[in-house]
Amino acid sequence: MEFSVKRRSEDRGEMETTEQELEKRIEESPYGPRTRELLRKWMEVESTGEPGFAAFRCPPIMASGSGASIWDVDGKEYIDCLAGYSVNNIGISNVEVIEAIGEQLKKLIQYYDFPSVPRIKLSQTLINITPGDFSKKVIYSVTGSEGVETAVQLARWYTGKPFILVPYGDYHGRTPGTMSMTGEAGMWAYYNPVPPWGSAISYFPYPYCYRCPYDKSCPSCKFFCIKALESLFNNTKTPFMNVQKGISNVAAIIIEPMQASAGYIIPPTGYLAKLQEVCRKYGILLIADEVQSGMGRTGKMWACEHSGVAPDMIIFGKAIAGGLPISGVVGRKEIMDSWGPGGHLGTFAGTVLACAAANKVLEIMERDDIPQKTKEMGDYFIEGLEGLAKKHSIVGDVKGKGLFIGIEFVRDRKTKEPATKESSFMEQQCLEKGLICSHSGYFGNRFCLIPPLVISKDQIDRAMKIFDNVFTEAERKFNLL
Ligand code: PMP
Repeated sequence: MEFSVKRRSEDRGEMETTEQELEKRIEESPYGPRTRELLRKWMEVESTGEPGFAAFRCPPIMASGSGASIWDVDGKEYIDCLAGYSVNNIGISNVEVIEAIGEQLKKLIQYYDFPSVPRIKLSQTLINITPGDFSKKVIYSVTGSEGVETAVQLARWYTGKPFILVPYGDYHGRTPGTMSMTGEAGMWAYYNPVPPWGSAISYFPYPYCYRCPYDKSCPSCKFFCIKALESLFNNTKTPFMNVQKGISNVAAIIIEPMQASAGYIIPPTGYLAKLQEVCRKYGILLIADEVQSGMGRTGKMWACEHSGVAPDMIIFGKAIAGGLPISGVVGRKEIMDSWGPGGHLGTFAGTVLACAAANKVLEIMERDDIPQKTKEMGDYFIEGLEGLAKKHSIVGDVKGKGLFIGIEFVRDRKTKEPATKESSFMEQQCLEKGLICSHSGYFGNRFCLIPPLVISKDQIDRAMKIFDNVFTEAERKFNLL
């Protein structure tokens, strides 16, 4: 007992910071005077819990952007490989979206969670563009986390079953409701003294093949991970299935079809289809969290389309309204209509302004064939990175679909020892050289490359030069040559 209290308070202590430490980071940062001045003001007025000092050693302060370029308050330009975390897919400050917002601004911004002309149009478009040859309906929220919570609520209501299964490493949000599905130990510690343990949530390993949790290799493993998952449902010693009666206690499996915040990890082709077979066999709904992988990011409108899978529900958010907050769920009609009026609501859910922006974003996506262009530009980007991998042994693995790209850094390609310190160093170096991207990963050793989908070849070429320099610097500094 005493031990656990001590451990928790130690965890807590390690996560806290001091103003002196943050001041030091500002002092040592590569930014100009205006950024530093504003960072100091920011520290004075906002909580240290903000993500800036976690995502970067010291965050930049952005002032404006266009396409895949972004400028900080000192006027320094960066190639944007973050897109505000997969939001500005059709380009930062897209002029057509700004105009559509301006038009709607003059008419109506918000009117509770009630239907509106732009919203009904958006729902029809979403039904048309999501996979599944079955009747569908839509429900709205504001943030991705809320979209996930709505899907969970619906799945439990519709099936009458308690359990939700999610893969380790999936990111589903930071609200107390979704934290139990995000599950990262580092984040959980912030919920001291009460962990955000949503009841009846359980986990299974994600098909992260570079570091297969079952120590197998694909494709000779023949989807061993699916067999392992299925073993949860075919015996009497798990709570997930009443084998004698043939009734599953699992309402839904919620999964990122491609794992985003965990480091842009792509499962083997066919995984999602196999997962859906298991779901069908045991009467479990399949819910795809496409908050980040959707909206053209992977070279198709939705990542699940790469596997030919139509999930029972798809959660959308992030990029759909070009930067305005709106999220929701598109799902089978019988699920969406299983509850009564008021089953879900939110003051700003599906608000009129965001729906008008989303209509314009989706119009541009279709008119300019953004998913196809994303595939082409993604192939170009990945090819360039594979070239760098031949030259730099610190690159352990490069994989991507469209402009959803992950690079894994290792200290040694044989042992695959994660290059964690090195990754933070390289992220910082990129920032200094005018490229913004984020690092994450199960071991903090992956680069996440998620530029606006309108990034140009010239920008990719420039990014490649920066990476080449930065990888060399890291290999020198950490004696990896
Ligand atoms: N699901 C996924 C896959 C996400 O990537 C995120 C955000 N990174 C969320 C849910 C939560 O979205 P939000 O931050 O808008 O609540």
